[in-house]
Amino acid sequence: MDHRYPAGYNEYSNIKTAIVNTNTQPRLVILGAAESGVGAALLGKQQGWDVFVSDGGKIKDNFKEVLQQQGIGFEEGGHTIGNILNAKCIVKSPGISDKVAVMKQVRGAGIEVCSEIEFGYRYKGDSKIIAITGSNGKSTTTKLTHHLLKEGGYDVAMVGNIGYSFARQIAEKPCEWYVMEVSSFQLDDIHQFRPDVAVLLNITPDHLDRYDYKFEKYVASKFRITENQHTTDHFIVNKDDKVITQYISTHSIHAKILYFTMSDNNIENEGGHIHDSRLYIQYDGENVDMSIHDLAIKGKHNQYNSMAAGISARIAGLRSEKIRESFLGFEGLEHRLEYVATVRGVEFINDSKATNVNSVWFALESMTLPVVLILGGQDKGNDYNEIMELVKEKVKAIICLGIDNEPIHEAFKTAVETIIDTNTANDAVLAAYALAEKGDVVLLSPACASFDLFKNYEDRGRQFKDAVKNL
Ligand code: ADP
Repeated sequence: MDHRYPAGYNEYSNIKTAIVNTNTQPRLVILGAAESGVGAALLGKQQGWDVFVSDGGKIKDNFKEVLQQQGIGFEEGGHTIGNILNAKCIVKSPGISDKVAVMKQVRGAGIEVCSEIEFGYRYKGDSKIIAITGSNGKSTTTKLTHHLLKEGGYDVAMVGNIGYSFARQIAEKPCEWYVMEVSSFQLDDIHQFRPDVAVLLNITPDHLDRYDYKFEKYVASKFRITENQHTTDHFIVNKDDKVITQYISTHSIHAKILYFTMSDNNIENEGGHIHDSRLYIQYDGENVDMSIHDLAIKGKHNQYNSMAAGISARIAGLRSEKIRESFLGFEGLEHRLEYVATVRGVEFINDSKATNVNSVWFALESMTLPVVLILGGQDKGNDYNEIMELVKEKVKAIICLGIDNEPIHEAFKTAVETIIDTNTANDAVLAAYALAEKGDVVLLSPACASFDLFKNYEDRGRQFKDAVKNL
């Protein structure tokens, strides 16, 4: 073991003897002081590192208080390079791109950089990890998997983008199981991170600005979730996703692969499939078998998410009957195809979290009524052709909600007769309501990020819901 590191900071040492000579504390620098950065800072301090946090912007008061309470040094509003380049290890927030000046200097200096999940991993002891990634459905599947394990009586925490960061959970309340939502940015800086169960839900173009606009780089980043897995670990993947199956057919994967699919072509194997409106999960000689109509969360995408969560839960040792029962009581998340209200026969649905075209595809696919679609925001280079057929079939009008709506007009000018521009949630709801007739649905499913007009997608969703309630 390298004695320049605190005890425990080595994958070959499972024993945490975190007693450290304070005179020789190695320096850990955290870039970015939000949930993951503060979590890593707390864990680092607890494990004997000399921790310093640096944030280029303003640190939120609640995070600042935590750092102050713990006596952790920090700076905000810029990075002092001399305080950073003396680090033994740097934990970088997933929000920070390698292209920013400070990261160029850090990389140039050859300092070890790891993501927060990598840092946490080194102190997780014997606990087990179910890690979930994909372009869409991560939060829903993470929450559902956590729900299944919790209902099954497991000592489990939900970590990652929902709930505490992994590092903070380990520092404050370690558990036997972690269900973790993992983004590609978190995977970009792993070294030893090895989940017992890894889930890859789907891969469609997203965040390409961070990957030099090269889709293959984004795909490779997603697959890093399995790169350190052994043959005894499990890798649960979507068999209907051609990007995924193509990658698997040309790369070697060490983990045991289990597929889930909408078709029958997995009926003989362990994994999941849908047949005659029934959902099946097969693992270790036991079956989950239930009607898809009994799932509390609706839509084809949620059948995929349910299969992935159910297989993970079976691998974790839950009995089939318990899984079936727990599926029945799972409510979805806010801002994901969330029913808001019906006003004079017009139904309103908030899908503000649909920030890319693929999630809008699934939203439209699950609509059974004529749709007035609220679309727009900060476009990440969308290709609207993917939803063109569904729009032609189901959408009677589009309300644009963004500063630059030109790409939407351009894409749909021949497909949809009425396209209206708005730039507040309230105006969008009023315009949609004016166009909708009894028996229609108004769907906010924007395909874009929200930052042009809103703080974030939650803010957009809540303003939409408030506007509906004021009708
Ligand atoms: P993520 O955490 O990956 O962003 P969420 O569960 O928050 O995923 O869902 C984001 C959006 O994608 C929502 O609009 C949701 O309805 C949609 N969605 C959820 N699961 C899937 C899936 N498996 N495939 C495609 N879209 C999905």
